[in-house]
Amino acid sequence: MTASDTIYALSSGALPSGVAVVRVSGPAARRGLDMLAGLVPERRRAVVRTLRDGAEMVDTAIVMFFPGPDSVTGEDVVEYQVHGGRAVVAALLDALSKVPGCRPAEAGEFTRRSFLNGRIDLSGVEGLADLVRAETEKQRRQAARQAAGGFRTVADGWRSRLIRARALVETGIDFVEEEIPASVWAEAETEVSDLASEIGRHLDDGHRGERVRDGLTVVLLGPPNVGKSSLLNALARRDVAIVTPEPGTTRDLIEVALDLGGYAVTLVDTAGLREAASLAEQEGTRRAEARAATADLVLWLEDVSWPGPSLALVERGPALLRVGTKADLIDSGRERFVRGGPELLVSAKTGAGLAVLVERLTAFAGAQVGPGEAPLITRQRHRLALNDCKGCLDRAIAPGLDAELRAEELRRATDALGRISGRIDAEGLLDVIFAEFCIGK
Ligand code: GDP
Repeated sequence: MTASDTIYALSSGALPSGVAVVRVSGPAARRGLDMLAGLVPERRRAVVRTLRDGAEMVDTAIVMFFPGPDSVTGEDVVEYQVHGGRAVVAALLDALSKVPGCRPAEAGEFTRRSFLNGRIDLSGVEGLADLVRAETEKQRRQAARQAAGGFRTVADGWRSRLIRARALVETGIDFVEEEIPASVWAEAETEVSDLASEIGRHLDDGHRGERVRDGLTVVLLGPPNVGKSSLLNALARRDVAIVTPEPGTTRDLIEVALDLGGYAVTLVDTAGLREAASLAEQEGTRRAEARAATADLVLWLEDVSWPGPSLALVERGPALLRVGTKADLIDSGRERFVRGGPELLVSAKTGAGLAVLVERLTAFAGAQVGPGEAPLITRQRHRLALNDCKGCLDRAIAPGLDAELRAEELRRATDALGRISGRIDAEGLLDVIFAEFCIGK
């Protein structure tokens, strides 16, 4: 499929910058290059050229020409690398707007064309979106694998096995009068049941891929004034929560994103848990508890400098790590307060114990996500489709089903797989997925 119009956009980041990359894709890309640079260079070769808009010089640029279909979008693509000044880029975009058939690209439009031209499947598109947004090393690696077709390779293998199994079952349908040869069904059944357990293994991956992509949530919980905000600030190394000596100031939830050993971790500060005085505080407490219930880890803080009436530890779903705060205020004589209490002591004031806490958090994140082979499923969309697929496979091998129904279940299983790659039902999804992209991608 080839679009009739040609799109262009600044594909590199915010201006001014050292170099700016402007990409053009479509049938008029080559003509534009001819108009601006006065020639079309040898394919896939970088050449230095003076760009002109009529008689006016725009800039000296490096230009490259990638003829379709062997290009990133599958169309003719031209890349201009110019000096990254705002006026330079504006002049180049203006010159391109005068090339007949050229118009500015919409967000994600280059990638959309790659998809429509079969250069990339939908899971790869999602990988690209994740790659552009990746903030930590683990996110980057996972996204790079998806963008390079990690899912597509595996799913294509499953698809061909499914199609073969379906062909075998459909062969059976033709034997209406006689008995279906047992060997034909036996072969299909083995294949389908192998596939079902293989997909089941991936589904049963502890959501590791989603955890890497979305990050883990760690919630700070504890009575007011215990030092939650101070600890959050100390860990984030910047002032994100208001720290005051008066109890009950953190009424809402405050979040910071941390990169712990390559894992993305969101740290959430909550309103103090206590007999709430005001309505606003009650609401804060309710939100804190709701957030803690769905967290991956709760840091339960206890002020070791002042034992106070200890709050009963509520039995909670997520893992819990007891942390003693204000360690700088205790001297050796008062260490008895610590015994049988928190697992580690920290001081937001002096920084003591923070390194150990970060180590524990990193180890926790590592244990949640790895080790083991890289997870295949990185989004809930993949998980839902694979779940559907497995459901169909399980039904297809149920005893006593007739061949037509088995074939129908296998067809639906193939469709479910096709939804991940975008072979099936892509239309409704495209706008949602491409909304994650920026202009020029
Ligand atoms: P939160 O209500 O649990 O968020 O507690 P805050 O972080 O607002 O801290 C309450 C009070 O304890 C403030 O006066 C802080 O300065 C103090 N504080 C917090 N952490 C430490 C610490 O490690 N050492 C000392 N000495 N004081 C602390």
